[in-house]
Amino acid sequence: MSEKKKQDYIVVSFSGGKDSTAMLLRLIELGEHIDEVISCDTYKEFPAMYRHLDKIRAVVEKAGIKFTALKNEKSFDYYMFEFRPEQPTGFFGKYQNIKGRSWATSKVRWCTKEMKIRIINAHLRELSKQYDIIQCVGIAADETHRLERKSNKEKNKRLPLVEWGWSEADCLKYCYEKGYDWEGLYEIYDRASCWCCPLQSLKSLRSLRINFPELWEELKDMDSRTWRKFQVNYSVKDLEKRFQFEEERTKHNLPIKGRDFYSQLKERLSA
Ligand code: SF4
Repeated sequence: MSEKKKQDYIVVSFSGGKDSTAMLLRLIELGEHIDEVISCDTYKEFPAMYRHLDKIRAVVEKAGIKFTALKNEKSFDYYMFEFRPEQPTGFFGKYQNIKGRSWATSKVRWCTKEMKIRIINAHLRELSKQYDIIQCVGIAADETHRLERKSNKEKNKRLPLVEWGWSEADCLKYCYEKGYDWEGLYEIYDRASCWCCPLQSLKSLRSLRINFPELWEELKDMDSRTWRKFQVNYSVKDLEKRFQFEEERTKHNLPIKGRDFYSQLKERLSA
């Protein structure tokens, strides 16, 4: 017997980034019906991102749309430094005395799961008891790797940016035209995710150190209090040494790549 059709409920997933911002603003501009906008705070967004979220929330509420700001009641720092599973399995089964999940790795992205996916899914599950949910997701037309994912092909997902053929560059341009500039975050970064993400590139980390020295100091402090190395080859302290070394060499017009650079860097890091 087929399940009884419930009332449709249109949800917009809003991360605060350029793509979901463009999707949301354009949907509102087109007068499309939206029941609820959902955002989820990781506790580690850039300060400018929090200010952007506040601005967009005001726009959404002014349009008479419900805005739900989700957040895990336990903080990022709790999971990172304090968490201990009740029944340790896998990695934690072997190392029961280790406290906290420490830095994420590409294979263990606990933070994406705990701070975002689990919280958003729990909210959607609650809504789906009452409604048939249609979830608008801000994947740009040129994000082919994301479009390939099975989860983004589900029939309850709507991808407005793909429908409109909007690329990531189109989204950023549209947001700038509407007066949203994240105080220059996208001039520095391609993506504006957690400032403390260990999966970001060296280029992003260099930018963090130069443009957000207070966050860089906080990153050093976090790294000094946890057990897993920040990145496979570098602790944050190592990165500080590397970036200082790069600056010295750049001043003397010396390259910051190549055999000579890396052999001298190795000496510095082991000193
Ligand atoms: S951006 Fe990085 S730190 Fe933040 S949730 Fe994703 S993997 Fe974790």
